[in-house]
Amino acid sequence: MMALDEFSLIRRYFTRPTPGCVLGIGDDAALVAPATGMQLAISTDMLVEGRHFFPGTDPYSLGWKSLAVNLSDMAAMGAVPRWFTLCVSLPSVDAEWLNGFSQGLFALAEQHGVELIGGDTTAGPLTISIQIMGEVESGRALYRDGAQAGDDIWLSGPTGAAALAVQHRYGKLNLVSEDMAYCVARLDRPEPRVALGRKLLGLATAAIDISDGLVADLGHIAQRSGLAARFLYPDLPLPALSSETLALPVFKSCLLAGGDDYELCFTAPASERAALQSLGEALGMPLKRVGEMVVGQGVSVLDEAGCVMSLAQTGFNHFA
Ligand code: ADP
Ligand code: MG
Repeated sequence: MMALDEFSLIRRYFTRPTPGCVLGIGDDAALVAPATGMQLAISTDMLVEGRHFFPGTDPYSLGWKSLAVNLSDMAAMGAVPRWFTLCVSLPSVDAEWLNGFSQGLFALAEQHGVELIGGDTTAGPLTISIQIMGEVESGRALYRDGAQAGDDIWLSGPTGAAALAVQHRYGKLNLVSEDMAYCVARLDRPEPRVALGRKLLGLATAAIDISDGLVADLGHIAQRSGLAARFLYPDLPLPALSSETLALPVFKSCLLAGGDDYELCFTAPASERAALQSLGEALGMPLKRVGEMVVGQGVSVLDEAGCVMSLAQTGFNHFA
């Protein structure tokens, strides 16, 4: 595709120094050398215009977010992100768009010391797919299936704001401007919890990043661990929003089922409470204990009165 422009496009927008790999962009394959005693953690995420992001989303945010969702998967495994590849399908060669996109992408890449080492570029409907590779000490990665009955359930931060931004963009509600700014930042510029994920090795028994909604993603830990998850709605951390927004009828379902937050949800034995509390303080991150793992299956949420809340809408499933 774009016979004339393809290689100069790759060189101009996607080629940066890659001192952390053996061979980067330009050959038939990149070469990487994982350190002795480390396992490779590999994950891929695809973002399709009109499905995962609104047409016309600003390119800087899109570049940022494309990498952020992948870094978040490394965080949830407790891995150090090292390298990534980028496949893009572009409707046209738009210099301004490519400039913004690559700036957003590399801004986050530099923050995390992760290198773009290859990819593929083609013409077509706007789609971005990143594969990320990280390293984790052999045998120490955080799985979804490690939760034990009696473990606490923790959250790295509040959920719900990104989903409110989506509702706002669909015109289903009208947020006041400060709330709008907060929610849009949560949706467009998520901060993957990589440093936390690393520190959870040896403390957490299971972890997941919240991309599809709290109940749905916690449900994955519960199911894979062969247990039930139980929490009290009033124990959930609330996003920093006005009381009007927090009182919106749609708010509860955003908090419980809204996707795109990229906080970490993890389980840990009660004996680690003090360690996790001080870890949260050291990272400047409001780690909050929200519930517990118990014998059984599924996820149950109790309201203020201790009654089970109905979870008609528990998360986003593309093919449901
Ligand atoms: P091939 O013909 O072997 O598939 P390409 O011509 O597609 O190689 O790509 C040339 C080089 O540019 C390869 O090293 C490839 O990994 C890299 N590359 C292609 N597209 C991208 C991209 N969007 N971002 C980063 N590197 C890319
Ligand atoms: Mg190719």
